[in-house]
Amino acid sequence: MRRNYDSCKRVLVTGGAGFLGSHLIDRLLSDGHEVVCVDNLFTGTKHNIEHLHANARFEFLRHDITFPLYVEVDEIYNLACPASPIQYQHDPVQTTKTSVHGAINMLGLAKRLKCRILQASTSEVYGDPSVHPQTEDYWGHVNPIGPRSCYDEGKRCAETLFFDYHRQCGVEIKVARIFNTYGPRMHWADGRVVSNFIIQALSGEPITLYGNGSQTRSFCYVDDLVDGLVRLMDSRPSFTGPVNLGNEGEFTIRELAELVLAETGSSSKLVNLPLPRDDPRQRRPDTSLAKAELGWQPTVRLQDGLRPTVAFFRRDQARRSRNPEE
Ligand code: NAD
Ligand code: UDP
Ligand code: UDP
Repeated sequence: MRRNYDSCKRVLVTGGAGFLGSHLIDRLLSDGHEVVCVDNLFTGTKHNIEHLHANARFEFLRHDITFPLYVEVDEIYNLACPASPIQYQHDPVQTTKTSVHGAINMLGLAKRLKCRILQASTSEVYGDPSVHPQTEDYWGHVNPIGPRSCYDEGKRCAETLFFDYHRQCGVEIKVARIFNTYGPRMHWADGRVVSNFIIQALSGEPITLYGNGSQTRSFCYVDDLVDGLVRLMDSRPSFTGPVNLGNEGEFTIRELAELVLAETGSSSKLVNLPLPRDDPRQRRPDTSLAKAELGWQPTVRLQDGLRPTVAFFRRDQARRSRNPEE
């Protein structure tokens, strides 16, 4: 869908050099908008946005959103935050600051500009859920003091701030609860299950199943997710969310390993390693609200989304072996 020139906006994307952010920027630019990408390059990379530098409607600002930001934009997508356990546990205090101080700064910006702001929240606000599948009215089962808490509680507090700025200051908010998403430009070293399994399969190393691999996740292809974010931003003014965005197809981690082996043609063996602490047993979104409000549902099956993802990692591996310093 290409917009006409009159509806062209200047859009801020925080975390725009990351995996989801860079795909969102591609979509916004192709819809005819101008994009300001703000990122401190903690987990994002310049490679993810290097194809955009020749585009006159794209601008990159290296900035940490825990500090105030004064720019003039029409809309804000707040995606800045490390998303994988290895990365968000690397400096847990900074992770909480990014979610909480970052939300305050971006909400302060939205309040001054009287513009819409969308928060990339997460299924992790449900913790290790005692309700399955998770609907948006489930309040969650989260450990406030464990190793995952900096991320889970930081994102929960960010949601609180979004709703308080909405009620107290009239800021127009949109909150997306994103479930596991995968695709090209995932970071090869982020330790997430899809990237780990593909890299292990491509290098003929053992596939590391944590626990016995019977825990479940649902995996959404990145293009579907980005479409959900854009639809949410464009939804009717009184619709704030939170709304689940994810794929309802539920797979055990062992099933995922088998699909990756089939797609790569690898003969890697499966090995079992200890299950990390607080690792949720089951996770699947109920996406009825997204269907009803946004007319959105994922279209890419896991088997089909793995193909371009594996192709990306093959190219990425070749690039990294040419430039081992990166
Ligand atoms: P990512 O790590 O690839 O991207 C996050 C980006 O934010 C990176 O470019 C990083 O450098 C930047 N960043 C981190 N801290 C920052 C700060 N203080 N100031 C400015 N930039 C900062 O992760 P992603 O998978 O693209 O996730 C994007 C957003 O979506 C995150 O908020 C994440 O919590 C959320 N999310 C992602 C998933 C998923 O499966 N990928 C699931 C749920 C929620
Ligand atoms: N802020 C910002 N850019 C702006 C406006 C505000 O980064 O254009 C930050 C500012 O640092 C402030 C925070 O957002 O601390 C919250 O703003 P708000 O107006 O809610 O609070 P106050 O300025 O009263 O502290
Ligand atoms: N996992 C695994 N092997 C790996 C990486 C992850 O078995 O090499 C498991 C992990 O224990 C979890 C699931 O895969 O049960 C998803 O992990 P990920 O870190 O990708 O996402 P999250 O736990 O945040 O959903």
